Amino acid sequence: MTDLFPAPHRCDLHIHTALSHDGSGSVDEYCRRAIDIGIGTIGFSEHVDFDPGDPGYGRFQYDVAAEAVMNARDRYAPDLRVLFGVEVDYQEWFEDEIAAFLERHAFDYAIGSVHAVGGLAVMDARYLAERRGGDPYVDYYDAVRRSAESRLFDVIGHVGYALRRGLRAVGHPGGRAMDMERLALTAIVRSGACLEVNGAGVRHGVGSPYPSLRTLRLYRKMGGCRVTTGSDAHRPDDIGLGLRDAEEALMRAGLSAATVFRGRVGSSAPADTTMGSPHVAGSQPPGL
Ligand SMILES: [Zn+2]
Ligand SMILES: [Zn+2]
Repeated sequence: MTDLFPAPHRCDLHIHTALSHDGSGSVDEYCRRAIDIGIGTIGFSEHVDFDPGDPGYGRFQYDVAAEAVMNARDRYAPDLRVLFGVEVDYQEWFEDEIAAFLERHAFDYAIGSVHAVGGLAVMDARYLAERRGGDPYVDYYDAVRRSAESRLFDVIGHVGYALRRGLRAVGHPGGRAMDMERLALTAIVRSGACLEVNGAGVRHGVGSPYPSLRTLRLYRKMGGCRVTTGSDAHRPDDIGLGLRDAEEALMRAGLSAATVFRGRVGSSAPADTTMGSPHVAGSQPPGL
């Protein structure tokens, strides 16, 4: 396969270091590896959790993360553009806490991701057992819809994550779940947030990045055009994994540019080199 997003345009905006409870490696290790494999833009997005039952609860240290990323921004320019993001776990019952957190802390972008519904992780066996009709998708997509409608986020993360367990248990979403997925996509398009194409789906065994090509095409058909790309790496060797699949899916869906951010303002990083270098608009986060 040819390089659809040549090096300066390849973006990995979903990275977890040892600053996340489930990540390993340092900001520097990731940056060096990114340069080695031809990634032009890297975005760090540590977990921030507000559910006291979550293993990552209370772990995030803003000052430590900001200092590491800002040092790397200076050190690796102009070979690598380094962005400071965050992946916020979304559940509707702590929307106010998320809003207050994002108000108080400056980031280049905020990803909102659904990992749990009603306090129960989507990957927990009890989650499926407790769902009406044994369907793991309806409540999940409903939560994704709410995350977009909250207007708290610049990016909606790994839509379709419930497939990781659901696919083996009940197969692909159908019927009502498809309706709920459509409503979630409608909310994302209306909110103006980006739909993330997340390479982790490939290594989670769902056969494609999150979301699938079918979903990406539906999003495009509904007028969606804003997307980001990310590997969801949790160790330096994972950076870039699944990105080629994500880029290929984007192109096949008719989405030819990924979005990058600075100070929560997004701009296009085009796939086609004839369109010029990617440009990051907006100002640096205050105080950084
Ligand atoms: Zn996630
Ligand atoms: Zn993640």
